[in-house]
Formats: sequence, structure tokens, C-alpha cells
Amino acid sequence: MKICVMDVGHGLCMPICVSADFKKIEVFTEKRWGIFGKISIEYAEHALVDCGSYNGKEKAFYALHRVSSYISRYTPKYFILSHFHSDHYNGIFCVADKGNHWKGWFDEVYFPGIPKIYDNGKDISNEFILYMLSFEFFQIYNNYGIVNIDFLDLIFKINDKCKLNPCFKGDFIKIRGKTFEILHPPRIIKDDEVVESVKKVIKEFKQFMKDYREFEEIVKFVERYSPLYNIVVQKNMKYEKFNGKKHEETYEILEKLKNLKDRISEKENFKKKIEDLDEKFRGITDRLSLVFCCDNELLFMGDLKPYEINKIIKELNSKNRKFFYVLITPHHGTRWGYKLKDIECIYAISSNGEKYKDKFEKNIPKFKKISENYLSTLEEGDIIISIKSTPKCLCPWGRCFPF
Ligand SMILES: [Zn+2]
Ligand SMILES: [Zn+2]
Repeated sequence: MKICVMDVGHGLCMPICVSADFKKIEVFTEKRWGIFGKISIEYAEHALVDCGSYNGKEKAFYALHRVSSYISRYTPKYFILSHFHSDHYNGIFCVADKGNHWKGWFDEVYFPGIPKIYDNGKDISNEFILYMLSFEFFQIYNNYGIVNIDFLDLIFKINDKCKLNPCFKGDFIKIRGKTFEILHPPRIIKDDEVVESVKKVIKEFKQFMKDYREFEEIVKFVERYSPLYNIVVQKNMKYEKFNGKKHEETYEILEKLKNLKDRISEKENFKKKIEDLDEKFRGITDRLSLVFCCDNELLFMGDLKPYEINKIIKELNSKNRKFFYVLITPHHGTRWGYKLKDIECIYAISSNGEKYKDKFEKNIPKFKKISENYLSTLEEGDIIISIKSTPKCLCPWGRCFPF
């Protein structure tokens, strides 16, 4: 397996090349190729985990161009999104804009499923997701000037026949004989800490809708046209991706977003409120990140917070899983959970930039203690790790690989 952590500043773009144990088979037939000819087939499958950057969508997109120097003929059939934050998927905006350049990409799309969040027996997850998507929609427009409903809208532009796979703890992603095991999020959340923060953010967002009618309009728009909300959350399979009305209403909502942006930018205290709400929404979305491992080769921690980090590491330890070849540190290396000291790895890798530099620098000594090597994209640029498994002999005459 080859893992590339591309330098995108603060964000993540992680192309993976998964090859079968025997890596490479070379074949030649005398009649077809002549005695000097041969063909070479590499039995590898490509995946992409996230593609986004806080430093702009182009930064993530250009990282994809560089991948070809590390993985030959890179065509990711699998796209795995860790969570719905634009610094993890805004590079996809550029991919979607380039149309059919990307044939064969993203047949299978994986992303964190939305857990049922119970508050006294009542499931408040749909309401939360609707507000979270509406707020992210507003923020993407506010920061990048882009109007798109959500991540799935982009994916459909690239491959409208892709298979959608919301993932929960206990699920598996199988790529070329390797199993990626999902460790988080769970299907149901009842923990007080999470439920309380979800309740709080719902309440605050409702107040925002009262103060700014535009937010109410955004919610209605997202409810109607977000594929993620309709297909995945509402399970509305009849949802139509491209109807004329959407185009018309997109124009209207754009006008409203412009007004809202102007009104808010004039008032300093509301800007502050927006930032505050943003932090709250972001915190919860981070907590619902996808976390997975692949044997003892890779442990990917998403953007988790310490509470979830400790829980997951504790569970892994109870199954005696303490060693991992590569650890992708939680939230770009800025977060740490005390339980992490119970694991060991060869490489601990952080994908980061200048943003939050002070935060991850504080954690470097801790990550160094649990790893043989600590690497960050800020220091190293693109990082490529190749994990080679022992080649198996497939030859009946005892002549072994590699050739
Ligand atoms: Zn992040
Ligand atoms: Zn995040």
C-alpha cells in the first residue's frame, strides 16, 4: 500500500494506492509480443481520502495533479470523505468544473453516516443536519463565493452513477483484497456531551433564523435541493437532481445571500456571532468524522476531539491492537487524547499549514513519543509512505516473485 499525504496547507488530500500482495505480474506471449516484448500489469486500485484545503480549492486541486509523479496512472475509483468540511472537499469543486476529464473516477463514494442523536428518546439528528448543511452552504458562499448545495452535488457532477455508501462503525470498505474497517461514527449517539452540544447549536441557529429571515430561506432551499439531505438523511429516493426550478431558485437564493453578507459584514458583533456559531457547528461535525484502520498498516483519526479519540483508542487496545505502521493524527495534529499514549506507530503524520501552528506544535513532543518518526506536510511538503508486504510465491515451479 502506498499512502500519499499531499501538502495542501491546512486541509487534507490523501491519495492511496492499494495493491494486491503479489504486487505485479508480468506477462508476455511469444506470438503476440515477440521474444523481446512484454506487458506489465500492476494489480493496484486507487482511492482518494478527502481533497480540500483551507488555503483555497486550487491548492487541493493542484495536489491531485502532483499525484501522478508518485502513483502511475492515478484514477481513484473510491472516494472516501472524512467529514463535511470544505477544507476536506473543496478541491472537488475544481474536479467537478473540469467535466469529463475525470472519467472512471469515484464509482464508489464513502462518507460518514449520520447517527441518530437521541435527546430524551427524541431523534434530533435530522434537524441538526439540516441546519448544519444550511450553515455550511452559507459559509462556503461567504468565504469562497461558491454556490453549491453540498458535497454530493459535486460528486454527481463527476459521476452521476456513483454508488453512495454512508458508513458507520462496524462497516467495511474492501479495496483490492484489503479491508478498511470503520471505527466511527456509531449508528446511535446518546452521550450527554454530544447531545448537549447538538441541542445548544440547534437553539442558537433557530434564534439566527428569527433575527435573519435569509437563514430561513437557506434552510428551505437546502431542504428542497440538497442531495445529501434528501437521499441520505430523508431517504427520499425520488429526489430529482436536475430540475429547472432549482436553477431559478438558485438565482433567488444567491441574491438573498448577497444581501445577508452585506448586512452582516457591516455589523461587527454579528460577525462575531457567525464565527461563534461556525465553531460550534464545526466542533460537532468534527466529532462525527469517519475514523478507520486498515489492518495494522493505517489508523486514520479524522478531525476527532479528545473525548472520541480516547474512546476509540480504548476499544482498539481492548482488542490488543496497539501497533500501527502509519497514524494520521487527529485534526491535523492539533488534537490529542491521553489514551493515544497507549499506541505505537512507525510514522505519525499531520497534514497541516501555518493555521493553528501553535496548537499542533504543542502536540509534536507527544506524537514523537508514540512514533519512531513524526512528519508534517508543513515541514516536509508531500509525504509518500510505501508499505510493502512480503510477496507470495504464486509459481508452481518454485520460482518466486519478484521477477
Ligand atoms: Zn480538518
Ligand atoms: Zn473538520
